[in-house]
Amino acid sequence: MDFALSEEQSAIFDMARDFGQDRIAPHARTWEAAGTIPKDLWPEVGELGFGGLYVSEASGGAGLSRLDATLVFEALSMACPSVAAFLSIHNMCAKMIDSFGSDDLKARVLADAVSMKTVLSYCLTEPGSGSDAAALKTRAEKTNAGYVLNGTKAFISGGSYSDAYVCMVRTGGDGPKGVSALYVEDGAAGLSFGGLEDKMGWRAQPTAQVQFDDCQVAAENLIGIEGDGFKYAMAGLDGGRLNISACSLGAAQTALTQTLQYMSERKAFGQSIDQFQALQFRLADMEIELQAARTFLRQAAWKLDQGAPDATKFCAMAKKFVTEAGSKVVDQCLQLHGGYGYLADYGIEKLVRDLRVHQILEGTNEIMRVIVARHLLANR
Ligand SMILES: Cc1cc2nc3c(=O)[nH]c(=O)nc-3n(C[C@H](O)[C@H](O)[C@H](O)COP(=O)(O)OP(=O)(O)OC[C@H]3O[C@@H](n4cnc5c(N)ncnc54)[C@H](O)[C@@H]3O)c2cc1C
Repeated sequence: MDFALSEEQSAIFDMARDFGQDRIAPHARTWEAAGTIPKDLWPEVGELGFGGLYVSEASGGAGLSRLDATLVFEALSMACPSVAAFLSIHNMCAKMIDSFGSDDLKARVLADAVSMKTVLSYCLTEPGSGSDAAALKTRAEKTNAGYVLNGTKAFISGGSYSDAYVCMVRTGGDGPKGVSALYVEDGAAGLSFGGLEDKMGWRAQPTAQVQFDDCQVAAENLIGIEGDGFKYAMAGLDGGRLNISACSLGAAQTALTQTLQYMSERKAFGQSIDQFQALQFRLADMEIELQAARTFLRQAAWKLDQGAPDATKFCAMAKKFVTEAGSKVVDQCLQLHGGYGYLADYGIEKLVRDLRVHQILEGTNEIMRVIVARHLLANR
C-alpha cells in the first residue's frame, strides 16, 4: 500500500494550483460579484487538458484516473471552489458522452468539449424531483426527425450560460428505465431559460431553470441507448461526488493555511492568538479532520478507478464525510478570524457560503447515508 503521490501526480496538482492562483484567485471576488465566469477562461483551462480530464485519450481527452482528477479539483478550489465545481460538472457531462455516446456524437461534440470551446451543463433535477430523480417528468416524444421535449429542469448550473445541455428526459414509462439522455445544443428551437437564481454561494456560477417548449432535438443527439439514461446519469455522479468533495477539501485547506498565518499576526492580551492553547487545539483538530478527509477521498477515488464493487458506497461515504469536514473547517476558520472573518475582504466568508451547497447537491448528504445504509443492509 502506497499513500504517496507519484511524481506525475504531484506535477498535475502543482500545475492546477499554479493556474488557479494565477488565473482564478485574483478574480474570484469580481466574478462572484458579476455572477458569471468570463467565457474566455475556459479555452485556457482546456489547454491544460482539464476540459476532458477522464475522457479517454482516444477521444482527445487527458485519460486521467479519478484519483488524478480529484487532485486537479482540490488544487483549483484553493483559488475558488465555485469555479472548480463548475468545471467538475462540465467534465461529468464530457465523460458521459465519451463512455456512452455513439461514435457519431463523440466525433461531433467531444473535441470542442475537451478544448472547452463548448461548455456543458448537466440537467437532471426538476422543480418536483431532486433526491427522487427517477421521478422526473420532462417528456421527450419520438418523431420522425428525432425528439420533441416538454418540461422544466431546475437549479441547472450554467443554465443560459452553457453551450450544450446533457438532459435526462422521459422517453418511456415511469421509473428509471423510462429515462434517456439527450444532448441539447444552445439555440435549439423551443429551448429557453428562467431568470438567474439568487444564491447563498456559488455566486460566480449562473444557475437557472432550463425550459423545453416543444423543443426539437435530432435523433442523433440521443446519448447511448433509449431507456439507459438514468444509469448513465448515476454513473456520472460517483465521480461528481469525488470532485465536489475535492472542492471542499481544497477550499478548506486554503482557509486553514490562511488562518494559521492570521493567528500569528493577530494579537490579544499581549500575545499572538496562536499562543492560546485552546485555539491551538482547534488548529490541531482541523488538521486531523482535513488529513482524514484527504485520505478517505483518495481511497474512494482509488476504488472507483479499480472498478471495486463497493466503489459507489465509498464515493457516497467520502462525499458525506469530506463535504461536512470542509464546511466545519471553514466555519471554524471564520471564528478564529473574529469579526474580520465576517468581512468579505478576508475571503473566508465566501468559502463558508460556497461550501455549504456541497452538502446538498450531487445527491444530498442524507441520500449519501441512504446509499451507505442500503449497502450495509444488503450485505449483512
Ligand atoms: C446551487 C445549486 C446548483 C445545482 N446544480 C445542479 C445541476 O447543475 N444539475 C442538476 O441536475 N441539479 C442541480 N442542483 C440540484 C440538486 O442536485 C438538488 O437540489 C438536490 O439533489 C436535492 O434535491 P431537492 O432540492 O429537490 O431536495 P429534496 O429532494 O426535496 O430534499 C429535501 C430534503 O429531504 C431530504 N430527503 C429527500 N429524500 C430523502 C430520503 N429518502 N431519506 C432521507 N432524506 C431525504 C433531502 O436530503 C433534503 O434534506 C443544484 C442545486 C443547487 C442548490
